[in-house]
Amino acid sequence: MKFYNLKNHNEQLSFSQAVKVGLGSQQGLFFPLHLPEFELRDIDMMLEMDFLNRSSKILSVYTGNEIKPNNMRMLLKKAFSFPAIVKPVKENISCLELFHGPTLAFKDFGARFMASVLAYLNNNCATVLIATSGDTGAAVAHAFYGMHNIRVVILYPQGKISSLQEKLFCTLGKNIDTIAIKGDFDSCQTLVKQAFDDKLLREKINLNSANSINISRLLAQICYYFEGVAQLPKEKRNQLVISVPSGNFGNLTAGLLAKSLGLPIKRFIFSTNSNDTVPRFLSTGKWLPKATVATLSNAMDISNPNNWVRIEELFRRKTWSLSELSYSSVSDKMTNSTLMEMADIGYISEPHAATAYYALINNLKKEEYGLFIGTAHPAKFQDRIEPIVGKQLNPPEQLEKRKNLPLLSYTMSANFDLLKNFLLKQDQ
Ligand SMILES: *Cc1c(COP(=O)(O)O)cnc(C)c1O
Repeated sequence: MKFYNLKNHNEQLSFSQAVKVGLGSQQGLFFPLHLPEFELRDIDMMLEMDFLNRSSKILSVYTGNEIKPNNMRMLLKKAFSFPAIVKPVKENISCLELFHGPTLAFKDFGARFMASVLAYLNNNCATVLIATSGDTGAAVAHAFYGMHNIRVVILYPQGKISSLQEKLFCTLGKNIDTIAIKGDFDSCQTLVKQAFDDKLLREKINLNSANSINISRLLAQICYYFEGVAQLPKEKRNQLVISVPSGNFGNLTAGLLAKSLGLPIKRFIFSTNSNDTVPRFLSTGKWLPKATVATLSNAMDISNPNNWVRIEELFRRKTWSLSELSYSSVSDKMTNSTLMEMADIGYISEPHAATAYYALINNLKKEEYGLFIGTAHPAKFQDRIEPIVGKQLNPPEQLEKRKNLPLLSYTMSANFDLLKNFLLKQDQ
C-alpha cells in the first residue's frame, strides 16, 4: 500500500520508503492511502488466531508484497517476543497490559517492529534521531542496540524522566548515544524537527526517525488492540469501550485504525494529564498549546501532540465525528487518589494507566465493558508509587540489571547548532 504525506498529498511512498524516511517534506506525517475493512466473518476468524499469525495478517494489509507473509511472520516472531495480557481489575473493567517487553512499556511493540523492518530492508548506515518523554528512548535503544551501521541518538528532557527510566536506556553505550537536554520534551521534539529540516544533516548522516511519527511503529500498535479483544469473553465484545492514556496520541491513533479495520470497539475514551491541549481543543474548537508542565505521568507531558493530525484525517475520511470521543484531563491529585483506589481493589498500577482508568470510571455506562491500556510497568515508577500504595514493588529483572550502572549521557542546552555539531562530529 502507498502512504501519503498529510502536508502534501502528492508525495506518496511505499511502506518501505515511508519507514526509511520517517517524515515527509514540510515535516508531514505519512498516512495510509487506503482504509480497508475486514468482513465480519474475517474478524471472527482472526480473533481465533494466535497473536503472531493474526498480527501478520493485519500488517500484511499495509505492507502488501513488500514483505512476504512468511517473512512477516518471522520478523514478528522476533519483534513481538513477549505477550500482551488482559487482566481483570473489577467486574466490568480490565487492563490490557502492554508492559511485559524488554523495556517494560508498550513502546517495545512499535520500536522492535520498526528495528526488525529496517534490518529486513537492509537499511544500514543510518542515524536514528529521536526525542523521548521517557519510554520511547528505552524501547528504541534496546530495539536497535548492537545493530551494525545504525547509530541511535536520543534526546530527553534533563531531570524530567524517572531515574529508573533513565537507567534503562542511558547505560547501554555502543551504538546508542543519549543526550540530556536542558529543556522540556517539546523542546527536544523541536530539535528533532529542526534536524529533519536541515538539508546538510539529512544528506550527510542519512537521518531517520523512530518517534511515533514513523508509520511502522503506528501500524505495529494496531495488533495489540486485536489481541486485547481476542482475550475478552465473547459476550463483552459488543459493548467494548477502550480508554487510552495519551501524550503524543500514537497509541490512540492505532486503536482507531484497528476500529477502522472492523475490530468491534464501540467507542474510545482518552485521558491526558494537565497537559490538556486536545481536551481543550475538543471543547472549544481552539488549538492553543500552553507551556508543558511536569506531572506524575511524565511520558504524557506533551502539549503539542504530533499524531493528532492523523486522528483528524482518519475521522475526516471515515466521516466519523470527533464528538464520539470522550476524554478526561486528570490532575496529579486525581491520579494519586486513583492509584490508591486501584490498590484498594487489589490492582497496583502506575500514573499513566491510572489516568485512563479514571477517565473510564467517569465515562463508562452501565451496559458497557471497559478496557484501559496499561502502558508501563508500575516498577518503572517505583519511587513514586511505593509511597502512594504503601507497599514495596518487586522490580522485574529488566530493571534490576541496569539500576546500578553508571549513566553515559551527554548534557546539552536546547540549541540546534550544538546538536548539529554533535551529530556531524561523532559521525566521522
Ligand atoms: C508514550 C507513553 C504514553 C503516551 O502514548 P502516546 O502514544 O504518545 O499517546 C502513555 N504512557 C506511557 C507509559 C508512555 O510511555
